[in-house]
Amino acid sequence: MPGAVYENVTKVFEGGADTVVAVDDLSFEINDGEFLVLVGPSGCGKSTTLRLLAGLETISDGEVRIDGEVVNDQKPKDRDIAMVFQSYALYPQKTVRENMEFGLRMTTELPDSEIVDRIERTAEMLGIDDLLDRKPNALSGGQKQRVALGRAIVREPSVFLMDEPLSNLDAKLRTEMRTELQQLQDDLDVATLYVTHDQTEAMTMGDRIAVLDDGKLQQIGTPLECYHEPSNLFVAGFIGDPSMNFLELEYDRMDGTARGTGVSYRFVDEQRARLENGLTGDGVTLGIRPEDIEVAESADPTTVEAEVEVVEPMGKENFLHVSVGDARLTASISGEYVVDEDRTLRLRFPQSKVHAFDSASGDAVFNRDRAADQLPPAATL
Ligand code: ATP
Repeated sequence: MPGAVYENVTKVFEGGADTVVAVDDLSFEINDGEFLVLVGPSGCGKSTTLRLLAGLETISDGEVRIDGEVVNDQKPKDRDIAMVFQSYALYPQKTVRENMEFGLRMTTELPDSEIVDRIERTAEMLGIDDLLDRKPNALSGGQKQRVALGRAIVREPSVFLMDEPLSNLDAKLRTEMRTELQQLQDDLDVATLYVTHDQTEAMTMGDRIAVLDDGKLQQIGTPLECYHEPSNLFVAGFIGDPSMNFLELEYDRMDGTARGTGVSYRFVDEQRARLENGLTGDGVTLGIRPEDIEVAESADPTTVEAEVEVVEPMGKENFLHVSVGDARLTASISGEYVVDEDRTLRLRFPQSKVHAFDSASGDAVFNRDRAADQLPPAATL
């Protein structure tokens, strides 16, 4: 049974003329033990989605269930959840121990010995057992974050809800805590809904990620599914850093070639068949990830001429910012090469690595051919 379910959930904030549909007919499940990351740009409805499950917002339409039970009308304290926020929300006058036990005492009838036992076990797990008598103002940001996590863990809920819990930490600590939190969630094996606007966090932490835009679910899948098989232009452009490159072209059904300024790109037969069925008009948007672009020695129907505008040497790789016709693209090539700015280069978009989207709807017509990526078994590490 899933830990939590959203079924056709909508949330409308009524404000007279200023009515906002923050969550629009959302359906997905968070499986038992799963780490599900809800990701999307600012204002897309992530926090509202999480708050609906927590009971901090009322649902306009649809149903939310926790452990199979509909909780639409349950008070937050009656729901079997625990939350961790970006602003740790610790009580400044209480010690770490008191902060951790407060919620337990308010919402459960657990005997003292069990409360003490849970707090000590959790504090040890989080490496804060020597801080139990301190107050929050005597803690670092990372320690406060651990206390906030500890307070959620001691409740032993059915679902953890985490809203950007690492955003207040500096970059190094955030990376460390990312790994730590993942390990912790793995050990605790509790369904977790984790909200972030950071696609790197989503890619590295989630068992699955749910990509949200404008209150609507765009795609739900494993990080690699969303990366390699995006369902539409939004997901393709949002997941991945640097982003996927896009070229808006006109497709000619007669010769299976897409054309735009400075670009004439030929698709293979199988791709042509997909375009034939999948395009609503002639507009096709070709997508290619920076790391899939190759430098070509000679021209063929899969290459374009590019003007190198800026080179960013990163050591391991070079990011080339180039212009192709009126489009700007980023290519990532090995750091072994020295590339001069203001020169032209011929670049190849290998046919097995391109994506095609219907320009009118934004929907994917086909994605890169992942079967062609498979390494022979002998090369598997
Ligand atoms: P961020 O990453 O910036 O926190 P978010 O994806 O979490 O954004 P939400 O906070 O869920 O987005 O907001 C979704 C939409 O609902 C926004 O347009 C926001 O302005 C609107 N909204 C949120 N809370 C309210 C409210 N209480 N009253 C009216 N509108 C609201």
